[in-house]
Amino acid sequence: MKIDKVVITHLHGDHFFGLMPMIQSLSILRKGSELLIVGPRDLRRILEEVEERTGSKPQFKVVFREIEVSKELELGKFTVQFFPVDHAGFETYGVKIKERDRPGKFDPAKADELGVPLVLRSVLQKGFSVKLPDGRIVRPRDVMGPPRKGATLVYSSDTRPTESVISAARGADALIHEATYLDELRDRAVATGHSTALEAGKVAEAAGVKKLILTHFSARYREEDLARFEEEASKVYGGEVIAARDFLIVDL
Ligand SMILES: [Zn+2]
Ligand SMILES: [Zn+2]
Repeated sequence: MKIDKVVITHLHGDHFFGLMPMIQSLSILRKGSELLIVGPRDLRRILEEVEERTGSKPQFKVVFREIEVSKELELGKFTVQFFPVDHAGFETYGVKIKERDRPGKFDPAKADELGVPLVLRSVLQKGFSVKLPDGRIVRPRDVMGPPRKGATLVYSSDTRPTESVISAARGADALIHEATYLDELRDRAVATGHSTALEAGKVAEAAGVKKLILTHFSARYREEDLARFEEEASKVYGGEVIAARDFLIVDL
């Protein structure tokens, strides 16, 4: 119920049919706050049509934004970019989420050394220089470490292995890549516009990402098969591979 932003990468049922019940639940349980939905152009029409024909109007403001490939979307402390992927010709977008760089860590020992009074320290931490009672100027970089690089996360959505994912994910902290099949079913992956775990591993290796998180496993596989997905991707990718499961939290 805390979710207030949703991105829909393409209009296949397994990626957006859950939106209606979610809106309905939010209507009942969380009146009054806004929901931002970012998705392909046709999603707006679908949402309007559902509202019109069912007479179910959400009890809060729903803001829709169409995915635009060339534009960066500013969402709080994140920048979001979209790029087209290769999903059997179906309009589908991958997503790149960049966290803004954070200021460096404040070093109290350095502040002590320079004799910065406690009351002035928060000013330095906010990025402003201060003048000490004796007239000396202390700049933020005198007491702060180097800026900390924000994390970058890329999600492939549903796709064959493709160059657009590799270039978006170059050097990313984590790539969430679909792996619908193991490589023994590569023909099926090609036919349906999906990837195998081995192919996802190759994409991650080419992009030089720090972590690969596999998801979107075909329903033919069981929980106990997930280790095989990790092993297969690890044959061609040197970083950490995680087969995602519901409610998994990964620290970047
Ligand atoms: Zn799909
Ligand atoms: Zn899918």
